[in-house]
Amino acid sequence: MEQTLEFKSISQWGIDLPAGPLVIAGPCSAETEKQVRETAHQVAQQGIKIFRAGIWKPRTRPNTFEGVGVRGLPWLKKVKEDTGMLVATEVANQKHAYEALKHGVDILWIGARTTANPFAVQEIATAISGADVPVLIKNPVNPEVDLWIGAIERFYEVGFRKLGAIHRGFSTYEKTSYRNIPLWQAPIELGRRLKGLPILVDPSHICGHRELRRVSQKALDLNYDGLIIETHHDPDHALSDAMQQITPAALSTLLSSLKFREVKTSNLEFRHTLETLRHQIDELDDELLDVLQKRMSIVETIGKYKKDNNVTILQPDRWDEIIMQMNKKGTDRNLSEKFIELLFTAIHQESINKQNTIMNNGESFAK
Ligand code: PEP
Ligand code: MN
Repeated sequence: MEQTLEFKSISQWGIDLPAGPLVIAGPCSAETEKQVRETAHQVAQQGIKIFRAGIWKPRTRPNTFEGVGVRGLPWLKKVKEDTGMLVATEVANQKHAYEALKHGVDILWIGARTTANPFAVQEIATAISGADVPVLIKNPVNPEVDLWIGAIERFYEVGFRKLGAIHRGFSTYEKTSYRNIPLWQAPIELGRRLKGLPILVDPSHICGHRELRRVSQKALDLNYDGLIIETHHDPDHALSDAMQQITPAALSTLLSSLKFREVKTSNLEFRHTLETLRHQIDELDDELLDVLQKRMSIVETIGKYKKDNNVTILQPDRWDEIIMQMNKKGTDRNLSEKFIELLFTAIHQESINKQNTIMNNGESFAK
């Protein structure tokens, strides 16, 4: 049983923000003073109130751009003076955290690679305890909700109450259409266990490309508190994460295409629960399709193998055995015999069609 932690909601952070979900925007990295200034001015014109820019960049491989470091901090200060926006940056050790605070950075975030390292998290939390700044904690690179919660607790324990989480997806060995798969169950579980914790979603790092609409809309449908979106005045020439950064104009198009939930609804709790459950079903349906796709590709391999060895496609004994076993397993899982039979007959039929195609050299005779 989790102890109950009392988090401040974003509206209690003492920041003047428009109603509705919070949007943080700005480049992956601060690169030059000019790039920061131009991006910030354009972003501010879209009504954004919090500007992000990475000063220290933990990169996967050495000899890539690792951020401009301390000399970029005055650029952020200038952004504050010129645009009135607040500024946020990532800190990965206590030196970063001291420097950021010394230069007036308003909001700190802990990156995914740092969240996965409890010593680093503790070092930062202890070093800056007493600082009254919001700290946003990205999920660890691996889908371990306890590690994410642990990092949040380390800040809570030294007195931080303006805390938030950022869901930025999880790395995976499998090739998917995401850079970091969202595994929405994880932030849902986080929200269930740490009630009242503001949660933002980072569609840029989830997607890894510029088509952010679907993931952003999903975040809003799941009632999360905001979005953090990598925005660059010239994304094609960005020094990090060029593929996923969008222009301030594209940010504006994106934001106006999103359907924002009306805040006042008599039955928000009900709608939230329903949507959470529906999204869980959507995720499972996607998994079902992935599993079916994998099954069919094995079926095709077998088809080729049978062809090379001159074996017929239909092997009734094997099929009878599958149906019998599935019926037994289905019963154990509370699935009716009728359903199992329908489901596996359809799967079997599709498998035969696939193998037929292979036997006939790519020409399908399937009805
Ligand atoms: C970033 O926000 O630019 C970043 C490095 O993100 P993450 O820690 O999620 O990889
Ligand atoms: Mn980035």
